Amino acid sequence: MNLKGIQALVVGMKKSGVASAALLAREGAVVRATDLKPLDELPGVRELNIPFAQQNPAVFQSADIIVLSPDVPADLAPLEAARRRGVPVIGEVELAAPFLKGRTIGITGSNGKTTTTSLIGHILRESGVPVQVGGNIGLPVTAMLDTSREGGWNVLELSSFQLETIFEFRAHIALALNVTQNHLDRHHTFENYAAAKGRLFATQRAGDYAVLNADDAVCVAYAARSAGAPQWFSSRRKVEPGATLSGDQLMLDGKLLMPAGEIPIRGRHNAENVLAASIAAARAGVSPAAIAAAVRSFRAVEHRLEFVRSVSGVEFYNDSKATSVDATLKAVDAFSGGLWVILGGKDKGLEYTGLRAPLAAKAHAALLIGAAAPKIADQLQGAVPLVPAKTIEAAVAHAYAHAVPGDTVLLAPACASFDQFRSYEHRGQFFKQIVNQLQAKD
Ligand code: ADP
Repeated sequence: MNLKGIQALVVGMKKSGVASAALLAREGAVVRATDLKPLDELPGVRELNIPFAQQNPAVFQSADIIVLSPDVPADLAPLEAARRRGVPVIGEVELAAPFLKGRTIGITGSNGKTTTTSLIGHILRESGVPVQVGGNIGLPVTAMLDTSREGGWNVLELSSFQLETIFEFRAHIALALNVTQNHLDRHHTFENYAAAKGRLFATQRAGDYAVLNADDAVCVAYAARSAGAPQWFSSRRKVEPGATLSGDQLMLDGKLLMPAGEIPIRGRHNAENVLAASIAAARAGVSPAAIAAAVRSFRAVEHRLEFVRSVSGVEFYNDSKATSVDATLKAVDAFSGGLWVILGGKDKGLEYTGLRAPLAAKAHAALLIGAAAPKIADQLQGAVPLVPAKTIEAAVAHAYAHAVPGDTVLLAPACASFDQFRSYEHRGQFFKQIVNQLQAKD
């Protein structure tokens, strides 16, 4: 792509916008930047030494190309108007694509992206394959160009917001883990959201692979959009070509990969992530034996059903990323019983009644924290003993005092964190700090 001398506007100046502007400038474009926020609140923008204007309708005039950051809605009126004038409106991933050396594995889905992306990176790295990991986690794609290598792999987590603005970007191996209701505030309808993710498959070419969840109707439909060869995974039934959880065995291309009991991350959802990652790694040339060995040494990504510690026979798990009822259900499902579940935080308007039956079956008690506690108490009343703990410290102290060896204390709050914490990461780190201070019982 020749960017020399073209008038480029970058919209949204967080990490990805800063990296896009730097790339455009380096390639000789005449770059301007804009954001809803003033310059003083945007780290790294002043250092770019490019003109900046706080967002207003005039800034969108006279651009030859507009590059959007993933958190800018792609359907803003001035963007629609620019498209009508024939101005290309692309995202950071699309901008980076022509400069990215080596081959690419792209991972999308509503849940499990970070885990599966990290796992594929881990398998390739452990197998001696040159690999770098980024996209929606860690580095933006535009910041991965200099370190990309012919013969190496770029493993990219890709959100629906990043995918709705791709046109040529191509993943040699593309994965869709699942597609469930999410981000309707931005995409307006489920169909738009599913279509945004589907672009990852529409840009594939013959010889590529489309790794898809055979039990998810939206993922199945992506197969028809891809010129790549469909590869299926299922945790419920035999599918080919691809990977299956059959009884307690993981099968890859019809052969035993490893016993499911050797997967170090818990739950059926994580078995699905392992199946998908194994197919991707195999198609990238890694042997089944090397895949199995690397899976065994993988550790959960921080805050995703992460094992913290065992003290006096009581195990502690941090799933602070479980900010929805759905994610909490997945976490509870990963244990056979003996649970003390810490729930609550900032309510996202969800119904908690779906937790009644699984908690009744598996939990000694639910320990309620944060602003959502009264609503959760109301909806779980009678299903499971409730402890009005208010804070994580009190919840951990109560659970630990009453737990017996073999029990598990699980932070999987089903709520956002912002009432008591800065982020889910902050909440998870705080939980781990409290757990790490516990003294063994006499
Ligand atoms: P993402 O990057 O897509 O948000 P993560 O790997 O960070 O995904 O996991 C987020 C949450 O989603 C986890 O806490 C877990 O409960 C749940 N999850 C992970 N993998 C899956 C999956 N394959 N299917 C459904 N839920 C999942």
